[in-house]
Amino acid sequence: MTQEEKNEIRQKIETDIQTLKAQILALEEKTRPISPDCSLGRLTRLEAMGEQHVNNKVLDESRLRLTRLQNALLRIDKPMFGICIECEEEIGFGRMSIRPESVRCVECAN
Ligand SMILES: [Zn+2]
Repeated sequence: MTQEEKNEIRQKIETDIQTLKAQILALEEKTRPISPDCSLGRLTRLEAMGEQHVNNKVLDESRLRLTRLQNALLRIDKPMFGICIECEEEIGFGRMSIRPESVRCVECAN
């Protein structure tokens, strides 16, 4: 991977981190407990709880991805960045630019 490619990936990671942080804040707002005395009807309340369940899942995934991206940012200047931890081949710029947190190449990830 060239230095230019790394710079591009670094920018992508930083943008993704900003996006994720905003998303996490919005989700934290949405996943606040629904107060029992709220004036929603029963069905609306069930829907709200279902939606909250989905949002909680997305929130967990977003937090996990945020941690992975922050770790990728710490690794980016080290020689092992972009090298598959299984087969030690280069992961490739294509995959790294889409999922910069990747630690395995496409073959080993499957
Ligand atoms: Zn591999």
